[in-house]
This record gives sequence, structure tokens and C-alpha cells, in this order.
Amino acid sequence: MAGERVNLLGLPRAELEAFVATRLGAKPFRARQLMKWIYRRGAADFSAMTDLAQDFRSQLSEVARIAVPEIVAQQVSSDGTRKWMLRMDEVQGIETVYIPEPDRGTLCISSQVGCAMDCSFCSTAQQGFNRNLSVAEIVGQVWLAHRELTEAHAGGRDGAGGAPGRSGARGNITNIVFMGMGEPLANYRNVVPAMRTFLDDLGYDLSRRRVTLSTSGLVPQIYKLAEECNVALAVSLHAPNDELRNELVPINRKHPIGELLTACWHYIDKQNGRSVTFEYVMLDGVNDKPEHARQLARLLKGRPAKLNLIPFNTFPGTRYRRSPAAAILKFRDILNDHGVIATIRRTRGDDIDAACGQLAGRVTDRTLVRLGTKLTPAPRVPVEIR
Ligand code: SAH
Repeated sequence: MAGERVNLLGLPRAELEAFVATRLGAKPFRARQLMKWIYRRGAADFSAMTDLAQDFRSQLSEVARIAVPEIVAQQVSSDGTRKWMLRMDEVQGIETVYIPEPDRGTLCISSQVGCAMDCSFCSTAQQGFNRNLSVAEIVGQVWLAHRELTEAHAGGRDGAGGAPGRSGARGNITNIVFMGMGEPLANYRNVVPAMRTFLDDLGYDLSRRRVTLSTSGLVPQIYKLAEECNVALAVSLHAPNDELRNELVPINRKHPIGELLTACWHYIDKQNGRSVTFEYVMLDGVNDKPEHARQLARLLKGRPAKLNLIPFNTFPGTRYRRSPAAAILKFRDILNDHGVIATIRRTRGDDIDAACGQLAGRVTDRTLVRLGTKLTPAPRVPVEIR
């Protein structure tokens, strides 16, 4: 029969409606029924969709499928943080991390295999860029996490932890952040449709404040996003002046701080948002001096901005070290004294290497994969958002 079956996972509502109309001659409400099955009930098999006519179901299975990524490994931290390694193809993997807190459950997802931004303190950069994830691979991370967390909760496998008493499409997942592998704005065409499904009430039904896109600073795409999709914005600032940021976040050479901040304020204006969260990794002796804090305060004072200080997470081969706790506290206090809100991100899941920005999810050993065994020893991902 003609062509590949279309993967329905992650198709935004309008596209799914168009698909059932043109390929199956069905009314739009069929698309809505399908979405409920896929996201709310976690179905991946048309035969389970019992309120759809038998005929419609068999027609569907000829032209469509619901294909989710495969979980290769799962680890659970002593603090309840969970990390899944997902297979993208024979050699590549990505990671997704779930971080439970008393009042929320945050899922940290990836947008690319590898990354091309080349930030000097990030381990994903070391593996370079492999490819963009598809919409289905992005939404599939949420679909899988939801299934795993629901099962862990219901079956008492090992306790899912996190926000209790949640039901419906998102289960324990109350927040989604693009802080895993990759630069989401460099995969704009797949990330935006995925976000639409996160926000859709027939998708994961999250409010726009609970979906956060974190970027290293792709200025033109920030302007585009401001027109097209309403989500919370986080920006990896990491330095208070261009000289230092050029070194830490090389995209700064193309889009310097002044240009980046102008785009951020435009985004907030346009979206009627509250504030941009600026991420700032604390690197010992590099960007953590009191003078840096004062420079930052001058940049952000009086602006709709919050700073999130991230203690650096080390990884093999890095030349950086984490700032001492006292330096981080002092840095925060200087900012607060200058009227800029700054918080320190708690490190979570470090016993399973699931802490901020160290993700390098690669399946390296083909022999082991063939044997049905695991992956490389666990790389790491970002965590916590407040
Ligand atoms: N490409 C996106 C998402 C990256 S990961 C971005 O740049 O925003 C999320 C955060 O973790 C980013 O702020 C990133 O700079 C930070 N990060 C990267 N490596 C880190 C490390 N080793 N320790 C702590 N934070 C790190």
C-alpha cells in the first residue's frame, strides 16, 4: 500500500483534524476522540480505542500509527528523580528526567540529539550535533514518562513520588521544561508543534506558565516565538559582559547581550508575560566574582527578570570547577541587595548523574545493544526549575 503510515503522536489538533478529514473522510470530532485516547488514556494501539467504530479503527491502522520511542534504561535517584534513556536509533540515545517536588513534578525533555551551540561548560557540546528530534520524539518523551509514572504510582513498583493526586492527561507531570539535550530554538519547526500539544486541553493541558523553553540565545527565533506560541522563556545568560559570554556561550558572538536582552523584553511585552528566567551557571573563578554580580544587577535591575544560579555540575574532561557554596550565596545576596531576584537551583538526582547540563545520551556499544543489554554508563541532564 502507498506510503508510510503517519505517526499521529504529537500532531497538533488542527493537523490531526485535517488528517482524519482528508485521509479518512472523518469529522473533526474523530480527531478529538483520538487525542483523548492518545494523551489522556495513554493509548498507543487503535484496537484499544473502544468507542471508535470498528471500521474506522481498521481504516486508521492502515494509514496511521502511534509510535513512541523505546526506553533503554531507567534510573531512580534516592531523592525520587528519575532518568530515562531513550533510544533514537542504533547508536544514539537521549535522556529525559523527571524531578518530583512536594508541590509539582517537572519533566525535563530534550529537543535534539547532541547540540551545535558549543557552550564551553556543557557536556552535551562535547558530542557535537547529531540531529533534530521529530515532533513525535519530543512529545513521545512526555507520553512515555506519563505512562511510566502512572504505572509506578498504580502498581507501587517503586513509588513515583512527586505531586500527589494528579489525574488525567498529565498525571504527575505539572511542568515541562526544554532543558535536556539540544537547543530547542534551533529545532523550532518541531519544538513549536510539540509545545502546542503540551498546551492543548486535549493534549497535556498545561498552562503557558508551566511549559518553559530554555535557549542559549537565538535572537531571531525569540522574536518569531513571541508571535507564534505562548510559553515561559528561560535564557542561558551565564556571563554579565560580552567578552566573557563570547567565551562561555559562543552564539553570543553572533547575538551579543544587548541584542539578546532587547529580544527578551520584547517577548515579555508581546506575550504579556511576567518575567524571563536567566540561567547563570556558577563557575569557580570565572564568572562568580562580586563584580560580575554587580554588572548583572546593572543589566537586569528594573526589568521583568529573575536569575537562577546553577551550581556547575562537573563532568570528565572539563576545565571548570563549581564555585564554592559561600561564593554562590554571596553572589545571590549582592543581586538581591541590588533589587534583582536571584535564587539558587538545588542540585537533584546527582547520584544517578541526572544533574544540570551534563547530558550526553549516547548508545556507544553496538555489541551490547545487540545483546539487548544497556547503554553507556549514564550521562546526565539538567534538573530543577524554580
Ligand atoms: N540549549 C538550552 C538548554 C540547555 S540545558 C539552553 O542553552 O538554555 C539547561 C541549562 O543547563 C542551561 O542553562 C545550560 O547552560 C545549563 N548547563 C549546561 N551545562 C551545565 C553544567 N555542566 N552544569 C550546570 N548547568 C549546566
